[in-house]
Amino acid sequence: MRAGLIAAGLVGAALAGSLGIVFAQRGDIPDVLSLLPPLPWAESESTGVAPQPILEPQSRRSVLSSGSDAVVVAEVGGAASTAGTATSAKPDTPLIPTTAAMPAADPPPKKVSQSAAQATPAPTAAPPPAAAPPPASPPPAPTPADVMKGPPCTNPNALGVSRVVEIDTTGAPGFGFEHFKQHDFLREGEVVLTFDDGPWPRNTPAVLKALADQCVKATFFPIGKHISYHPEILRQVAKAGHTIGSHTWSHKDLSKMSLEEAKVDVEKGVSALKLALGQPITPFFRFPLLKHPPKVLAYLADRNVGVLSTDIDSFDFKIRNPNRIVKGVMAKLKRYGKGIVLLHDFQRGTAKATPELLAQLKANGYKIVHLTAKDRMDSLPKYDEMLAKDMKLPTAGGGRPTSSVVKTVAE
Ligand SMILES: [Zn+2]
Repeated sequence: MRAGLIAAGLVGAALAGSLGIVFAQRGDIPDVLSLLPPLPWAESESTGVAPQPILEPQSRRSVLSSGSDAVVVAEVGGAASTAGTATSAKPDTPLIPTTAAMPAADPPPKKVSQSAAQATPAPTAAPPPAAAPPPASPPPAPTPADVMKGPPCTNPNALGVSRVVEIDTTGAPGFGFEHFKQHDFLREGEVVLTFDDGPWPRNTPAVLKALADQCVKATFFPIGKHISYHPEILRQVAKAGHTIGSHTWSHKDLSKMSLEEAKVDVEKGVSALKLALGQPITPFFRFPLLKHPPKVLAYLADRNVGVLSTDIDSFDFKIRNPNRIVKGVMAKLKRYGKGIVLLHDFQRGTAKATPELLAQLKANGYKIVHLTAKDRMDSLPKYDEMLAKDMKLPTAGGGRPTSSVVKTVAE
């Protein structure tokens, strides 16, 4: 895996080089942003204008689409198994949090990784986690256990992860009772944290720090364009062991597009992730604005992509005040007892709220569930090529170096 990370780094460096074609001319991101179509959510952060609202949950718990009949959720976390089969986690036993809960000689992260690896049929010839991969070889095909990697937990009082579940995304099952009702897999008191619209400077790293401090794993749904601006931040998300799904390239309302246009936006989002991470991605998807056009759901079924809506919408993009964000989420959790929580690592208020939110989740006895996927999805060459063209936007600087375009005349 070390080789895989190195390879990912090399691909990342290549990406940075490719982005350099865009960035080198101007030297800063705002100018690059100005070359692109306006991003309503980005404008909202810089101008203070309320962002495009997410659909109000008018028919909570109603089914918009059932997605699939397949059995889709398998538990891969839990007590270490030597039989190669999944075992149930004891609800009260955190998997990742406290060294106190684990045998002293067996560091928690290793134990989680072993458990997951044993519980998951290896789809490739990848060696077991204990075996060192050969150096300087091509990156091994990823296994679901990859997403559980991350730094060891050093906080003995951390909230941690109590259960890791693996989703079989065949046929695009939907999750989140705001829109999908078929798969009710969370137990009472269990919480899945999801963060949308990153990666973004300051805010995403702050969220990552808060999660790391509490040894919590979450699921991120970054926007393709934002990935292209900040691939290095996205790689921090991956390195920390979080699950990363896709959220389109441009974050536009797919219900207002033709199927072809929607496919382009979905697939370019996948291509951006693949390019930044250097490997096939987790086949999870969240629709922008939580609008789920049936024709796009059908397309995702063909691609075997799991769709995550939400149980608990924090409305953090509207509320913004960190204390009120925490209060709102905790109140909804109290009402529903469990759920997939929708937050935005893009938002400053959310970045500030996350430490307190995690503290209150722990204080109130909630348990964190980490979602993983059974399979991976690859990007499609056609859309990789479209993305590559987007990365080479013409700049208005005539190819001159920044130093010849901008100079300090007074300071
Ligand atoms: Zn979004």
